[in-house]
Amino acid sequence: THDIHVIGGGLAGSEAAWQLARRGFRVRLSEMRGTGERSPAHQGDGLAELVCSNSFRSDDDEKNAVGLLHHEMRRCESLIMAAAATAQVPAGSALAVDRDVFSAEVEARLAALPNVEIVRERVDALPESGPTIVATGPLTAEALAGSIGRATGADSLAFFDAIAPIVYRDTIDMDVCWMASRWDKGETKDYINCPMDKEQYLAFHAGLVGGEKTAFKEWEENTPYFDGCMPIEVMAERGVDTLRFGPMKPVGLDNPRTGRWPYAVVQLRQDNKLGTLWNMVGFQTKLKHAEQVRLFRTIPGLEQAEFARLGGLHRNTFLNSPVLLDRTLRLKTAPHVRFAGQITGCEGYVESAAVGLLAGMMASAELAGRVWQAPPRTTAMGALLSHITGDAEAETYQPMNVNFGLFPPLHEVKKKQRKEAYTARAKDDIAPWLTALG
Ligand code: FAD
Repeated sequence: THDIHVIGGGLAGSEAAWQLARRGFRVRLSEMRGTGERSPAHQGDGLAELVCSNSFRSDDDEKNAVGLLHHEMRRCESLIMAAAATAQVPAGSALAVDRDVFSAEVEARLAALPNVEIVRERVDALPESGPTIVATGPLTAEALAGSIGRATGADSLAFFDAIAPIVYRDTIDMDVCWMASRWDKGETKDYINCPMDKEQYLAFHAGLVGGEKTAFKEWEENTPYFDGCMPIEVMAERGVDTLRFGPMKPVGLDNPRTGRWPYAVVQLRQDNKLGTLWNMVGFQTKLKHAEQVRLFRTIPGLEQAEFARLGGLHRNTFLNSPVLLDRTLRLKTAPHVRFAGQITGCEGYVESAAVGLLAGMMASAELAGRVWQAPPRTTAMGALLSHITGDAEAETYQPMNVNFGLFPPLHEVKKKQRKEAYTARAKDDIAPWLTALG
């Protein structure tokens, strides 16, 4: 017996289960992986698997909205943030983790709670009654997606994301590449940099534009890309220099062998704690696998590269939440069902976990018969939640990363100081809310 059923043991579902269990509720957490079934993007059976990048993005809680979200989640004793701290790997001012250590830590902490029952099962329909949180993510299994579609009466929107390749560290030629962070402030030499001269860059660009891509199915053709995760070849098509101003930007990266910035740079970031795997930053792609290997081996320093994983493309499904969900993430037509994570139309690991955290808190309040107070709109959690549950334009609703554009504006503050002003205000405002939560 349980008090609440959480469906999906990803970032959001794990966090929601944790928040509920810590408040004394009995949770059944259903996860389909482990039954032999996986989404096209998941590779293992552990809870809270990071399917692409190993980064939770900026950890700067003074000038960055996602860094602020980290801060707020830590103050709410987030499971995801605690596990990330254990699994952290160097990444400059970003918070990156060893994905295997991270997933194992999430699972171990949940399994250690006596009132959490982790069940490996696929759920094929929305439960007809009983408190439920659905956190099955952008790749929700088909039968359940169909059931959700029938309950919402709406065609779910879809768009595309792409993932970047991962290279084995010991196959990178460090006589060509070098370690450095951009502008190399202090001691942080966290990235591997592969330098390109003009000729190499132009040839590489031509290879991207001309390279053979994975074919689109007919129904996929009109699906837009999410801007933050655009395939490298799509960016290349936008202009010969687009990449040099984007992921291949050379500025602030002095090549120690020449004392100058190269014409273009490919950067790799550490992907696991051991430092054996490095991902190609910004190199999400839908080039055919053989084409990826051929083309990426023309990058100086990667001539002998072996790939732990190649890039790929996936579909993303989410609800039109501003219309379908109430302010506490419940389905208006079936309020025993609450949604959490990316399926609500937030975008990103951190955002998904944050919405899971909020859903767990909301459900806890409901089970305890208490009135739920939303976090202030001036906080990152409050801003994101408001956006999802009503403030966004329903007609053009698209998955959203947390950003200062979602916060009530501070026009009176000079632009240069505005980011600090947003974060300072959020930190002031979250304290009384946390106190009131108890
Ligand atoms: P998930 O973490 O996907 O968790 C959902 C869980 O539900 C899964 O474990 C799944 O197995 C399970 N499940 C699904 N259906 C059922 C069912 N019927 N019954 C039981 N269990 C079920 N975000 C970033 O910040 N950085 C990135 O680099 C990034 N790359 C991405 C790449 C890909 C390929 C995808 C798909 C997404 C990416 N995202 C990225 C976006 C997003 O933040 C992640 O997908 C994130 O994991 C979403 O968290 P979630 O908890 O909502 O869903």
